[in-house]
Amino acid sequence: MKSGSKGCGHRFHFEWSRARALIQIKQNRRSPLATTQNEIPQPLEPAPARSMPKFKENVPLAKITNYKIGGPAQFFFEARNEADIAWSIKEAKKRRVRCFILGGGTNLLIGDAGWNGLVLKMNISGVIAKGTLLTAGAGVSMEKLTACAAKHSLAGLDWAGGLPGTLGGAIRGNAGCFGGEIKDNVKTVRSFNTKTMRFVTRNAAECRFGYRTSVFKQHPGEIILGATFRMKKGSEKEIRATLRKEKTWRTTHHPLEYPSAGSVFKNVPLSDIFAPRSKPYRDAVKNLSLNYRNSSFSVKTDPVPVIAAAKLIGESGLAGVRRGGATISRKHTNFIVNTGGATANEVLSLMALIQAKVYRKFGLRLEPEIQIVRPTK
Ligand SMILES: Cc1cc2nc3c(=O)[nH]c(=O)nc-3n(C[C@H](O)[C@H](O)[C@H](O)COP(=O)(O)OP(=O)(O)OC[C@H]3O[C@@H](n4cnc5c(N)ncnc54)[C@H](O)[C@@H]3O)c2cc1C
Repeated sequence: MKSGSKGCGHRFHFEWSRARALIQIKQNRRSPLATTQNEIPQPLEPAPARSMPKFKENVPLAKITNYKIGGPAQFFFEARNEADIAWSIKEAKKRRVRCFILGGGTNLLIGDAGWNGLVLKMNISGVIAKGTLLTAGAGVSMEKLTACAAKHSLAGLDWAGGLPGTLGGAIRGNAGCFGGEIKDNVKTVRSFNTKTMRFVTRNAAECRFGYRTSVFKQHPGEIILGATFRMKKGSEKEIRATLRKEKTWRTTHHPLEYPSAGSVFKNVPLSDIFAPRSKPYRDAVKNLSLNYRNSSFSVKTDPVPVIAAAKLIGESGLAGVRRGGATISRKHTNFIVNTGGATANEVLSLMALIQAKVYRKFGLRLEPEIQIVRPTK
């Protein structure tokens, strides 16, 4: 660790030089990463490789994802530093094994068939505070990152109190809530390009953040290794109080008593209903409310004006509807919770029902927010 910096983690795992040495291998410019936006195509057949030394085999993913749903990973490896990433990707390429990156598993619906290939679990840990900069590995949980920011009186990520998952997952999906988004504080993001086998550092503009998206989601093939955030000096007491307040809000509004992957669908931009700058659009934004097809909606900024998917689902009469162990939560209708032994197919069946009913009643298409890992035709 550099002098003048203060660590919140036990070790800082970026090992640049060893990683660089490891990638002096014959480079194959094809990415083994599964291509993905919200649908993550699952190879139909297991990878031909019979065994991969050092990789675990047949690891149940239900146990390590928040939903507690899904079949096993054919191969599984925990990457603790950059050298691990370069090495495991090289191995996967050599054997033509498709690779899926697992962060905290809080935004995922893994299919019942599991993953035919390698699941690479991101465990790059460590947080360093230096002045108003905060640098952390992709495997650091948002809980640990925000706690470290508070400890060093660094404000900016306070909105993320209680946000589940890792830094890597949050960057890829530009996670956000309570009007804040991860992009607001990003200075740089470091990643590994699995096609070129090179390390890349991008500034915030180059990350092309948008609503629940980033360049890493739009053009898969890169693994996020860590990020540096530009923070502001604040009061530790106030930062901690905001983190606590946001966490408490989640406990009262989200069905945290059951496994889930958070909000299943994205909120609907107001621009899906009215042309931006049109009078009804401007009125809805000004009044923060909208009467639409006999229902009244609040309009919130998230970060563009939206109406809540939860309200559309509730108004479609779907609260409490079940398929096996999967239930549309009454507490928050945009959550499909696993009330016991749910399968991925049951969740998918409820998602299809929601989309059909909301479209029939409101003429609006709900777009999944969760990442779905299932076989492609
Ligand atoms: C109760 C609950 C509440 C939630 N509330 C919110 C909320 O308010 N706002 C919000 O935005 N989200 C929310 N979420 C969703 C989720 O917590 C976030 O999307 C989170 O950022 C996902 O991070 P993760 O590490 O768990 O990613 P995972 O679920 O493990 O992965 C999600 C996707 O990111 C990819 N990925 C993960 N790490 C990396 C990496 N290092 N490099 C490249 N790709 C990677 C995976 O391949 C996958 O495609 C909520 C979830 C739950 C369960």
